[in-house]
Amino acid sequence: LFLSFEGIDGSGKSTQAQVLADSLRAMGRDVVLTREPGGSAGAEEIRRLVLEGDPDRWSAETELLLFTAARRDHLEKTIRPALARGAVVITDRFADSTRMYQGLSRGDLRGAVDDLHAAMIGVEPDLTLLIDIDPEVGLGRANARAGKELRFEGMGLDLQRRMRSGFLALAQEFAGRFRVIDGGRSAEAVAADVLAVVRGAGV
Ligand code: C5P
Repeated sequence: LFLSFEGIDGSGKSTQAQVLADSLRAMGRDVVLTREPGGSAGAEEIRRLVLEGDPDRWSAETELLLFTAARRDHLEKTIRPALARGAVVITDRFADSTRMYQGLSRGDLRGAVDDLHAAMIGVEPDLTLLIDIDPEVGLGRANARAGKELRFEGMGLDLQRRMRSGFLALAQEFAGRFRVIDGGRSAEAVAADVLAVVRGAGV
């Protein structure tokens, strides 16, 4: 089973991915918890190329290619082998993040995102948990840990708002696999909802 967490910065998705992994492991499941950009040795190298240093180093198009290359390596080296041995794969971000960030934030590249995805990735998660949060709350949380990802310090509320509505639109577009979870509550309450949704999907 292939699960992804999505959401804007500061939504709490990374915490929730970790808590879900712990819960499923406690139930005896083999779980691989991974993340994007990254999740394999090569993709983590690409993560450093895109998230560290000068934010204007790459054009929007080159950045899309780098994220796609990272995803391809992540898929080959981490995700496919784990699924093949029957593990539950939980990834903190996947292609939906590229539909949003590379597809929308620096212009309209959604068509190119979709073409590259069809040609080079070709898989979607079985279930995508969108942790939905008020953009101001998310930005407050993200700024609290600012400095970690220097590239994104300049991103403000306006972008957070666009990404939030974009993710909600994506949840409609891919309604079959998306579940929207209210992330504006305690981590425990959110985790309980996440586990119920995943158990409901037959895990
Ligand atoms: O999820 P995480 O906090 O690790 O993401 C690191 C940064 O990379 C975030 O600021 C996120 O907005 C950005 N990102 C991106 N495009 C992606 C995935 C993440 O710009 N496809």
